[in-house]
Amino acid sequence: MEKMRKGGITVETEHIFPIIKRWLYSDKEIFLRELVSNACDAVTKMKRLVSLNEASFDGSYRIDVKVNEEEKTLTVSDNGLGMSEEEIDRYINQIALSGALEFIQKYEGENEDSGIIGHFGLGFYSAFMVADRVEIVSKSFTDAPAVRWSCNELGEYEMNEADKAERGTDIILHVTDEEADFLKKETLTRILDKYCAFMPIEIYLNGEEKPINDTTPLWLKNPSDCTPEEYSEFYKKLFADWQEPLFYIHINADYPLNFKGILYFPKPSHEFSNMEGQVKLYYNQVFVADNIKEVIPEYLMTLRGVLDCPELPLNVSRSYLQNSGYVSKISAHIVKKVADKINSLFNTEREKYEGIWDDLKPFVEYGCMRDKKFLDKVKGSVIYKNVDDKYVTLSEYTEKNTKEAGKVFYATDKTQQSRYIALLKEEEIDVLLLDSIIDSQFITHLEQENADVKFVRCDSDIAAALKSEGETVENEVLKELFVEAIGKEKTEVEFASLKNEKTPAMITLSEQERRFSDMMKLYSRGENMPGMDNMGEKLIVNTKNALIEKISTMLSDPAKKETAKLLAKQVYMLALVSQRTLTADELEAFVNNNVDILSNI
Ligand code: ADP
Ligand code: MG
Repeated sequence: MEKMRKGGITVETEHIFPIIKRWLYSDKEIFLRELVSNACDAVTKMKRLVSLNEASFDGSYRIDVKVNEEEKTLTVSDNGLGMSEEEIDRYINQIALSGALEFIQKYEGENEDSGIIGHFGLGFYSAFMVADRVEIVSKSFTDAPAVRWSCNELGEYEMNEADKAERGTDIILHVTDEEADFLKKETLTRILDKYCAFMPIEIYLNGEEKPINDTTPLWLKNPSDCTPEEYSEFYKKLFADWQEPLFYIHINADYPLNFKGILYFPKPSHEFSNMEGQVKLYYNQVFVADNIKEVIPEYLMTLRGVLDCPELPLNVSRSYLQNSGYVSKISAHIVKKVADKINSLFNTEREKYEGIWDDLKPFVEYGCMRDKKFLDKVKGSVIYKNVDDKYVTLSEYTEKNTKEAGKVFYATDKTQQSRYIALLKEEEIDVLLLDSIIDSQFITHLEQENADVKFVRCDSDIAAALKSEGETVENEVLKELFVEAIGKEKTEVEFASLKNEKTPAMITLSEQERRFSDMMKLYSRGENMPGMDNMGEKLIVNTKNALIEKISTMLSDPAKKETAKLLAKQVYMLALVSQRTLTADELEAFVNNNVDILSNI
């Protein structure tokens, strides 16, 4: 005797089907994730019933995704706990429908923000995004008779008894002609690989022998049971990268935060400057979304890996993520784990750490500038390369350089500033090499955070350690000569007695003014700003130098005044070429001055 029930859409749900149809237009493919994850849930529930002795089964659990090309159907089958007629009525006709309705009402306004919404499903009814008729054929684990539910795209369903002996559920989608792509094996393989690759129950496509998924992904294992090879293999497979990551972090948080994951720091690829990482977010092994910026702070966006957050509802919106305490705690936990890892590499594997530092540095420095907490955690592990390619921390530097307490000398160009570096080295003062754009912003930031440290470029004010003791004799006439010879209003002339007697003169630049003009240059895309040249430039004339003495004596003989001026100019130009690249005009003047001096011999 066949029982038949008919039903139809209620007033409330009148519009739900058309909405589902156009909903999430670009992310239709998630219907498959929804159906397969429902199948997983049904199997998991069945397993639990068996473990509680409320049902028995000793076969193997599986999910099948099968295409029938002639019928144009796609079927998702499981041997989970199944549903009785009453259960379909309750869970599909009532609860699932109202759930989908609620979801649509809640997020319809956010439709434009399609970036994330599309990743989150609306459950069973998302099947109608690709099908004009959906059938459920189910046999419950209880002795309730098997049942068939069939529903068209207007939401009109009918239910009757079905002929199904084995326990479980088949969801049969009559795929529309427009969506026929979802009947193709390649399409299904791609979608299953994206969303279902780590689901906990074996999934088979078109009855093939091998499941498409890995039911026990590495992140669920205890970190102490995983080998470095497993981490490396997992990374390479997941991200199709042949390079070893720089390091990885396995997060296994149980309480109070419940989430697991593995994060990798990839080796920056220099061929393509695409440094965008990829952190895949999972909900109980079901893929939800990529690169959720609410979870991973921007400066760690280069991280790759997986996060499984079972407390994150599957149906979440961007505004939920932005305001969720759980999400911000996860984010803070990740930052802490990354900082811990950096500190532990620094403390226990210094050599390896120095080996990866150049790749790590931009992210650490950027992170320190963006996030005070991160800075506080890792600042002791920030290392600096010196001009001899050795790495030191700031405290190692200051401990050693007691001659100039509180000052940290650096060069931005090893070749250009070699004279200065050499002079400082003579006094055993170490010089760091800070030659990237981020460095200059980073040191300014550090100085703001820590008043005890002052970074000075090696061509800034002459270090006290370079000067010899005793007073410097000022010579107004000589000073006048230099001012005249230089012929630049802004360049000051000063006398000093330098320990290094071979150096006639040096250019120095005020650190603050130079940083300011560098910054302006950066904003004006490398163009020289008028009036910014020689900003804070000083010529330090070394009274200990023989050539300077010679020029000075020439001044008492009026016949030698012109030659003295040529020599003074030459001293300035030599100091200038030791400090920076000459401009075209300066080079021209330099060459002419040389010719004039040579003609005078
Ligand atoms: P959710 O999975 O969030 O509960 P769905 O709309 O995906 O929402 O599914 C609604 C309900 O239908 C499920 O909670 C479950 O009770 C039932 N259901 C769906 N698919 C299956 C299945 N394959 N086997 C057993 N029950 C199912
Ligand atoms: Mg579901």
